[in-house]
Amino acid sequence: MITGEQDRRAYLRAMGIDVWVPRGEEQTDAAAAAPAMAERAGWDELRAEVSGCTRCRLHEGRTQTVFGVGNPDADWLIVGEAPGAEEDRRGEPFVGRAGKLLDEMLRAIGQGRDRVFIANILKCRPPNNRDPKPDEARECRAYLDRQMELVNPKVILAVGRIAAQQLLDTDSPVGRMRGRRHQLGDTPLVVTYHPAYLLRSPSQKRKAWDDLCLARRVMEGGVA
Ligand code: URA
Repeated sequence: MITGEQDRRAYLRAMGIDVWVPRGEEQTDAAAAAPAMAERAGWDELRAEVSGCTRCRLHEGRTQTVFGVGNPDADWLIVGEAPGAEEDRRGEPFVGRAGKLLDEMLRAIGQGRDRVFIANILKCRPPNNRDPKPDEARECRAYLDRQMELVNPKVILAVGRIAAQQLLDTDSPVGRMRGRRHQLGDTPLVVTYHPAYLLRSPSQKRKAWDDLCLARRVMEGGVA
């Protein structure tokens, strides 16, 4: 049972304030309150909650959380995998080499970093850039779900295997998911290759361009 008191404690914790919890209530409080808050949080509360998050082990190795960046009313929500070393250092998603390519891809379809919203499945950097573990993705999901609700985009672009598989809850490879419209609740979703993969396999850039054009048509309501 989630109480207002649990919300209050979770919020104070997120703000970095120590909270006294009566003996016996610790587990319910820690396990239940954070997602309950995220589900109703506005942007400021959500940002504070993410920055103080200790729900998985990744908080131990982070420099800072990487919340997401862009226009809170964007038509496009771009979802990647997790912060890398550069993102962990700067606190912003997609600022390394792959990020530069993502910026170019977005510019090519008339979108800039300031017009879209960019977030990741994980808000903390996994060590040595390993894939997110299922429990990490699960613990972080309420934050992304709330970001999706708050932005309320016209289209979600899932970049790379991890983002697409997590969002669509499937094991399918990207090659099978790209090229068509999916649905995440009420929001259409298009899958494309991760820019880091495109840096290694530039011959696939043509397909990524096709995916972006598809996403733009979906965003404009042209693909049922
Ligand atoms: N790759 C991602 O998926 N996200 C980032 O923020 C950076 C690299």
